[in-house]
Amino acid sequence: MPSRKPIVGGNWKMYTTQDAAAGLARDVAAGLIAGTGEGAGVEVVVFPPFPYLLTVGAVLRERGGPVALGGQDVWTQPEGAFTGEVSGEMLRDCGCTHALVGHSERRHVLGESDELVGEKLRAALSAGLHAVLCVGEKLDEREGGRTDAVNERQLRAALAGVGAGDLSRVVIAYEPVWAIGTGKTATPEDAQRAHAAIRAVVASMYDADAAEAIRIQYGGSVKPGNAAELFAQPDIDGGLIGGASLQASDFLAICGAAGGSAR
Ligand code: PEP
Repeated sequence: MPSRKPIVGGNWKMYTTQDAAAGLARDVAAGLIAGTGEGAGVEVVVFPPFPYLLTVGAVLRERGGPVALGGQDVWTQPEGAFTGEVSGEMLRDCGCTHALVGHSERRHVLGESDELVGEKLRAALSAGLHAVLCVGEKLDEREGGRTDAVNERQLRAALAGVGAGDLSRVVIAYEPVWAIGTGKTATPEDAQRAHAAIRAVVASMYDADAAEAIRIQYGGSVKPGNAAELFAQPDIDGGLIGGASLQASDFLAICGAAGGSAR
């Protein structure tokens, strides 16, 4: 069985100021270097707001630390008349190695379709980025017993046209929408069931090796107090963290829990 290095992402959403973002980046990088050492069992990436990417990138470079930089979204085209949008090439130019795609706030607050998310995923990959593809069901879908069907529909639409070679640069984040920013978390058993079903979809679209290799993060009100039991599940490979990523100490504790779950 291939080993999967857990990956923890900090989604700062539309929070922080430039100074606060720089300070948070400094504290996270310093804490990781002091606590776990570079190359320890967890990969860490932060997703600051677009205007702070250069500032945060400079802090992370200066620390020489183990924290990667990502954009919270990416447009479908490399350049053009798309006012307000940011391309994967621009993210690369600003020092990003990762991009979030299909976050539930973009799907359900801003109305992004499965198809648009797929276009964004392919654009991120063709710009040379690693993409964190978010999928997850809303509360009514969960209560209607449609969790796996929703995840499968979102996965198939997003991964259509993504070759097996490029799949190695995709991380999936399973984020039940009802758990994001609400303080409600899926039980480790429920999350594990959803992750195993997602892995089975990847196996059916690619093959068993691809499914074993792909990392699937859990996201939705992960905190220092619940991270370890979630990350201990066999198909949960770290987490995508929103609110708790804005406090360096909480985020570092969650990274530590993921590092402790390395398998
Ligand atoms: C997120 O923004 O992806 C997220 C999971 O947020 P929170 O941790 O606040 O639920």
